[in-house]
Amino acid sequence: MDQKKTQHHNSPESSWHRETRVLHDGWHPESAGEPVVPSWEPSTIFRHPSGGLSADSWSYTRLDNPNRAQLEKTLAGIEGGSDAVTFASGMAAVQAAFHILAPGDHVLLPDDLYHGVRNLIRDQYARWGLTFDFVDMTSVEKVREAATERTRMIWLETPSNPMLKISDIAGLTALAKENNCISVLDNTWSTPVIQRPVEQGVDIVLYSTTKFIGGHSDALGGALVVGNSGNHTEISAELRKFQAQAGSVPSPFDCWLLLRSLKTLYARIKTQCANAQLIAGRLRGHHAVEKVYYPGLQDHEGQEIASRQMDMPGSMISFQVRGDMAAALRVVNAAGLIIPATSLGGVESTWEHRKTSEYAESPTPENLIRLSVGIEHPEDIWQDIVRSLEALFHKSG
Ligand code: PLP
Repeated sequence: MDQKKTQHHNSPESSWHRETRVLHDGWHPESAGEPVVPSWEPSTIFRHPSGGLSADSWSYTRLDNPNRAQLEKTLAGIEGGSDAVTFASGMAAVQAAFHILAPGDHVLLPDDLYHGVRNLIRDQYARWGLTFDFVDMTSVEKVREAATERTRMIWLETPSNPMLKISDIAGLTALAKENNCISVLDNTWSTPVIQRPVEQGVDIVLYSTTKFIGGHSDALGGALVVGNSGNHTEISAELRKFQAQAGSVPSPFDCWLLLRSLKTLYARIKTQCANAQLIAGRLRGHHAVEKVYYPGLQDHEGQEIASRQMDMPGSMISFQVRGDMAAALRVVNAAGLIIPATSLGGVESTWEHRKTSEYAESPTPENLIRLSVGIEHPEDIWQDIVRSLEALFHKSG
């Protein structure tokens, strides 16, 4: 097997736009006979050089692998980060981020966020000694008031899952710096196509690559992209150490799939956002819909901040139907095109009754449906929504 450096020979042109780099950073053939598509490298072990192992040699796939290196290089490049460290799932990436902290440290998190993060910190890290508070992050002032002298991390998720609350990234990052805290932003819903937190000073950008980065609902993964702030080298070293030691790494094949998916990221996201903007506007005018949560709507609470920090409003829409939980479930199950399924970010439109996917005490309204808009023709998606909403006026069988 070639030495690592030959895998990185294809250095990108720094003048290239992200739309170009996403296709060429990870792999670009240079000599005759090289494949245009990178090879999948399933071997877990690599023959050592005669002089013994060095930082420049491949050795063992838990520590490093060509497909993983290609994926990490591409993710760091499109984010404008100093490094990208990948994991076996989004939650494994969340775990690695919490592991930078020490028992006794305090974390501030948004009051609306992916329920898995809430569960992980409550069920695992409280026992392990982290303290934490959930706070309304639509207000920088409220976060300032909630910070204590033990606060070491401010966790952002904007737009939040599932209520699409918007927080001011620049304001909260500045607050984190003032308080000597690490800022982490879960950018799973936006991807660097829409929102680039590193440019706003965020220390660590988190992805469940299972969602939009993968885009085809066929590969689990997570990533932490490290920014360029003062202590980025230390953060990166900690994360790399945790990745190698704890070993919750993505498989080479999943990395290969994710790198392939990244090639269409910009095209997919632009189509999904255009479809979502049209559908959110129409949902808002539909008599069977009580409320729509989408940052591209003028009357969305966070619209002004969203328009400053997001290039497009995304393709996730939450809405409450006129009716109760049973009514919302009837709508979800009435769809013919939109697939009732959890997760998000795939090319096929999916939706779910969100509260039953979370946990019994979740604050999510019981008549809320979360829709992930795909790349189908928007009129087909809309017609399916209209037909499904009619289920509200039929009695359940
Ligand atoms: N962050 C967000 C915003 C998510 O929506 C999810 C999963 O739905 C995760 C993190 C966790 O990712 P994974 O399911 O890949 O572990």
